[in-house]
Amino acid sequence: MWVARKIFHRRYPVIDAHRQILPACVVLALAVACCAAGAQAPAKSGADGWAIEIHGGAGEAEWLSMDQPTANAYRGSLGKALAAGAAVLEKHGTAMDAAEAAVEVLEDDPLFNAGRGAAFAADASNEMDASIMNGADRAGAGVASVHYTRHPIQLARAVMEHTPYVLMAGPGADAFSKQHGLEQEPPSYFFTEMRWKEFEDVMRKSGRAIPPRPEGAPAAPATKPGGSARVGDGIQFSHAFGTVGAVARDSEGHLAAATSTGGMQGKLPGRIGDSPILGAGTYADDRGCAVSGTGVGEYFIRLSLTHTVGELCRQGKMPQEAADQLIHRDLPALPGGEGGVIVVGRTGLPIWSNNTIGMFHARQVEGGKAEVWVK
Ligand code: ASP
Repeated sequence: MWVARKIFHRRYPVIDAHRQILPACVVLALAVACCAAGAQAPAKSGADGWAIEIHGGAGEAEWLSMDQPTANAYRGSLGKALAAGAAVLEKHGTAMDAAEAAVEVLEDDPLFNAGRGAAFAADASNEMDASIMNGADRAGAGVASVHYTRHPIQLARAVMEHTPYVLMAGPGADAFSKQHGLEQEPPSYFFTEMRWKEFEDVMRKSGRAIPPRPEGAPAAPATKPGGSARVGDGIQFSHAFGTVGAVARDSEGHLAAATSTGGMQGKLPGRIGDSPILGAGTYADDRGCAVSGTGVGEYFIRLSLTHTVGELCRQGKMPQEAADQLIHRDLPALPGGEGGVIVVGRTGLPIWSNNTIGMFHARQVEGGKAEVWVK
């Protein structure tokens, strides 16, 4: 809690300071003065122009010992995914296409817990969840426990666009994916050594038997049991969360959000988290904001977390205030409630809020440079 508070203070010193010391009237006077001086950027089409933010999951204690090669690898991957989304927006593409494009890149990247590199269920299968939502009409859909789709985010969008449903799961969703002509991959494609090592660790610590490696997975490397899994030349790095997501605002001012995950390591087969559920892991409403979350999904579902942030934005709260209310107040009020969100509103910079030690994320706005945060 203290660490989260410290991080919050470091990240939002102004918010923290004025909350603690400045009387409300001083803040109001400053705001009026800023507006009068024309400090706010003139509105472009689509409010403040296009904007995108992505995340690659929120992390735990391992972040404190992340070495430079590992950090560099994550930085490069986040930059690539951000660029894919920004390229869509730069060409006046839609927020939906941009969010989807960024998530697809992260799904292909073995560093993240989505698509290739997904976490393992207790039976060593990869059960993947994803969802996408369009703020323009609040259409959206999710898919849960899918096994073979290379890009689960594409499957979520196909469910949204080609069925009347908002959620499909398991073998039915797998069959729909195949019928729809989406790229299919065998379990060995999703397997990564790094994620398997994390999985073994989780199973060992929870006193459960480690199942055989999935069919087609490479033979175990010759390291001693529990030895390091490596990112490049880096030290072992495993983080409890690694879900990916994106929020975008296009040049027309429309918003979208997308989220994709392999879920929690060692989950019981059949467990479904927040990521495929609209209003829990993903939410978008042009009247408020677009939100993608990462963290312990059960708590996000219980709080309808991303929908609540969206509603607070719709009622006039700034995205930062809305996100902080959920992430720093409501989520930790439930013991075990950990995670973070990225949010983009109708105007202004996309923001983030997390109560974990860190969260991989990156953002870019029209006319601005890519910003990437790994630690
Ligand atoms: N929210 C995901 C889940 O509970 C996990 C994560 O964010 O890493 O399935």
